[in-house]
Amino acid sequence: MFCKNCGVEISDKAAICVKCGVANSPIGDSPNKRKRVVYVLFAVFLGLLGIHNFYAGRKGPALTQLLVTLLIGWTVIPLLVISIWVLVEICTVVTDGAGNPFI
Ligand SMILES: [Zn+2]
Repeated sequence: MFCKNCGVEISDKAAICVKCGVANSPIGDSPNKRKRVVYVLFAVFLGLLGIHNFYAGRKGPALTQLLVTLLIGWTVIPLLVISIWVLVEICTVVTDGAGNPFI
């Protein structure tokens, strides 16, 4: 790959450009700044609205949970289903929407 600062060719595994010293990350592998503890806290307190999935960039589940809760949540049963869904996510989701592990 090429240094995003000075354009010189560097190793794909290089974290820092040998010419200019600027940090580089491999293409398509942006470092994840999302914390799993924040994801879990959002899930516990705002999970029915899908806020934890918006935080993690998991737009599909986020929108599904938000819309189901707002549109048919008053029928109660969908809330139970989403509650279980959120509990499963708390236990199993360890990456954000781009597949990068939480820190
Ligand atoms: Zn450089």
